[in-house]
Amino acid sequence: MRIFFLDQSGKPGGAELCLIDIAKPYGDCALVGLFADGSFKSLLQQNNIPVEVLATQAIQVRKESSLLQGLKSLGQLAPLITKVVKIAREYDLIYANTQKALVVGALASFFSRRPLVYHLHDILSTEHFSQTNLRIAVNLANRFASLVIANSQASKTAFIQAGGRTDIIEVVYNGFETKNHQTDESDIDKLQQQLGLQGKFVVGHFSRLAPWKGQHILIDALAKCPPEVTAILVGDALFGEQDYVQQLHQQVAELGLENRVKFLGFRSDIPQLMAACDLVAHTSTSPEPFGRVIVEAMLCGKPVVAAKAGGVMELVEHGLNGFLVTPGEPQELAQVIITCLQETEITATIANNAQTTASRRFDVSIINQQIAQLLSQRL
Ligand code: UDP
Repeated sequence: MRIFFLDQSGKPGGAELCLIDIAKPYGDCALVGLFADGSFKSLLQQNNIPVEVLATQAIQVRKESSLLQGLKSLGQLAPLITKVVKIAREYDLIYANTQKALVVGALASFFSRRPLVYHLHDILSTEHFSQTNLRIAVNLANRFASLVIANSQASKTAFIQAGGRTDIIEVVYNGFETKNHQTDESDIDKLQQQLGLQGKFVVGHFSRLAPWKGQHILIDALAKCPPEVTAILVGDALFGEQDYVQQLHQQVAELGLENRVKFLGFRSDIPQLMAACDLVAHTSTSPEPFGRVIVEAMLCGKPVVAAKAGGVMELVEHGLNGFLVTPGEPQELAQVIITCLQETEITATIANNAQTTASRRFDVSIINQQIAQLLSQRL
């Protein structure tokens, strides 16, 4: 099957990293068309996935854009759609991986007469999107998509609540290469030394820096923990959240935590960094559609504490394979951090349970089989 994937981003967020795993088995039968240049293109190339940057100018619509702004951008889209239609004729299907890719993919599907698949990585609610963008996404999916793949039950439920068709949507979780999450003891020691983490209780936060990812909640919680508790914040502001980055640095300074919070920026050595942690914290203040970092931490054998909302509740069972806390509650988060610091045996058992179940549930080859099966059944 020849698949033409579309993604709006030049930067590797969770949806883009997931796309790498889906496109990889198709080799030269796949092409990823991007609407922006950037480091995601290089990542695709490193994975031997054919890629082409289709738009030289970034599309200006944002998640919260109004209808008028959306319409203005249609002018910008015309040359891109023409290009996508032409390429799509050489493929069996168009696979839209993001919302702007859905807009372009829907029109291209109509003109090229190729079926459309929409991989939904978002919770389509007004907490994350403008009413207009919500309506556009749901209407286009309803009208043009033969299949919508939701990354969690939570994303599927939100799609249906927003008016999405129940007969076109299926849930498929993100898949992960288990062996990529095994690390050498010597690498971990080296990293801990480099980062000055030896002898500390390290809480890792792995996410792009954005207000709803809640790094500020972890910083607040840290101030309520004993001094040996240190945090590493791994990730960068991918979509222009510079004010928030400044705010975080200010918060750290005000709380006198300069020696206990390290900003590491965007990194590609996530499994190694996770292995250097004692606990991985996920602190989103709005419901997370899936939460790749949670599964990654589990596969690394690390205990996870996560904000209880959205897709996260399909991944974590409190006290069995991780810990759940109320979103936006630093006091509760601090309490769990202190428990993990003190109750090392129970915490290790929980992390082991998580590793076993996660490697079974999220094995990339099984997930890819599920997708291949859906594509062959529905198209
Ligand atoms: N990630 C990364 N480098 C970083 C920070 C994060 O590669 O510096 C990865 C992380 O390992 C995860 C993804 O980015 O695979 C984030 O996915 P998630 O579902 O947690 O959030 P999203 O970005 O989709 O909102």
